[in-house]
Amino acid sequence: MLRCAWCMKKIKDNKPVFGLSVKFAEGANFSNSEGTITQIKLHTRNTSVPMIVTASDSKAKNQGTDGIFTLCSERCGEKMKDTVKKELTTFKEFKDISLK
Ligand SMILES: [Zn+2]
Repeated sequence: MLRCAWCMKKIKDNKPVFGLSVKFAEGANFSNSEGTITQIKLHTRNTSVPMIVTASDSKAKNQGTDGIFTLCSERCGEKMKDTVKKELTTFKEFKDISLK
């Protein structure tokens, strides 16, 4: 089951899932975790959160998505974006995507 990357609540299968697509900054390398959900350190929050690392041959990767945060609500999405903006050593771009 997916978890919200912001509030850590489990997202039930019948609930909407909000996605935040991110592009990694130069030097941020998660190739060992491709195709899996990995814990990523957010320095500004001093915590780690789950992120899906897209596989190198996936459609998402071809469209420029390196990683995806799953979020339970727009509110959590907005907070996640505020944080991602500050994590410049890890991320350089982000955008909303729909997962369902
Ligand atoms: Zn949430």
